[in-house]
Amino acid sequence: MIPVLVLNAGSSSLKYQLIDMDDRLVAASGLVERIGEAEGRLVHRASGADELTEEGKIPDHGAALDRVLAAFERTGGLTEAPFAVGHRVVHGGDRFSGPTVVDDDVLAEIRDLVPLAPLHNPANIAGIEVARSRYPDTPQVAVFDTAFHAAMPPHAWRYALPRDLADRLRIRRYGFHGTSHAYVARAAAAHLGRPLEELTLVTLHLGNGCSAAAVAGGRSIDTSMGLTPLGGLVMGTRSGDLDPGIVAHLHREGGLDLDAIDTLLNKESGMRGLAGSNDLREVHARADAGDADAAEALDVFCYRIRCTVGAYAAALGRLDALVFTAGIGENDADVRARVCAGLGVLGVEPDEARNAERSRETRTISADGSAVAVLVVPTDEELEIAEQTLAVVRGAAPM
Ligand code: AMP
Repeated sequence: MIPVLVLNAGSSSLKYQLIDMDDRLVAASGLVERIGEAEGRLVHRASGADELTEEGKIPDHGAALDRVLAAFERTGGLTEAPFAVGHRVVHGGDRFSGPTVVDDDVLAEIRDLVPLAPLHNPANIAGIEVARSRYPDTPQVAVFDTAFHAAMPPHAWRYALPRDLADRLRIRRYGFHGTSHAYVARAAAAHLGRPLEELTLVTLHLGNGCSAAAVAGGRSIDTSMGLTPLGGLVMGTRSGDLDPGIVAHLHREGGLDLDAIDTLLNKESGMRGLAGSNDLREVHARADAGDADAAEALDVFCYRIRCTVGAYAAALGRLDALVFTAGIGENDADVRARVCAGLGVLGVEPDEARNAERSRETRTISADGSAVAVLVVPTDEELEIAEQTLAVVRGAAPM
């Protein structure tokens, strides 16, 4: 058994999976929620044991990890230290272009990137610190959401702002969801039976957060999220791209201060702002019941995605495959059909019956003669983090 523990720490949550990298199977998984609040909650699932649920105050991430380790003691699965711990870290700035074994210097650099991800990196740092303290002799690896996009060319990442100011404040496109885009790009190539190095893909991660990536030869050459995960496509609660003049307008005419605008654009916009719900199933239900706002919201959502695919086909110069993933991409046949409608100009020919079929497997949903293969690939960010963790630990300390 090669147990790799994957930790994804949010500001008040800790998601984890224990993956046996011998056979790539999940041995246990769970979630600690409402860390720091009056009443926290742990749900722990280990193979061969009953699901375990605990409630009670969980003051911080250290206490959360202790609860998780205590749960493992009861269900088994992690009796000794894991082989390695892989941490999801949201922002690697332009410093980290791949998975990195964490030492004091790396931790300091991740801390230095907090201004770029003030909500996420502090939680990720907390996760690393507690895992290091509990397992001081186990390699800890940071896997960055931004890393897959780190090799984008300057014409894709540079914003047209005064150079000195942008450079000083580290303002550029970084892109996110990189672990997911990397995983589905590789899985798509395997499904197509072609080397990833030869392929041009557009990958669409459509979940609560949504982003697109243009992938050439296994590397992201452009992506829709920017300095922060607010940019690009319309999302559950995030606006995606706007005319930047709207920010000043909201302030001058709407009387909103910067914090209020930040909250508005991140938490109250997107599908929630347009249709009253950030859950696309609910938006569909409302549209089906005759709600014109919900119907229009779906049009806006799909239109933005379709235009982005067109733009990325132009960026790539050729499009071999279009890949849908995440909660919406994997499950929502209607969104997939609407995105593909109108992409005939690129050679996208969906097959209605294949698209409508429900499955948890990687599958082709384009017609046999379609010039562009359209695929649905279930993403697995935890497995990708575990794979990258294992690779970097073995590279750093060959066994
Ligand atoms: P994620 O962030 O990947 O968990 O995706 C969450 C989004 O996926 C939410 O908007 C859900 O409404 C959407 N979703 C999940 N399952 C389905 C489904 N069966 N049909 C449509 N949307 C779904």
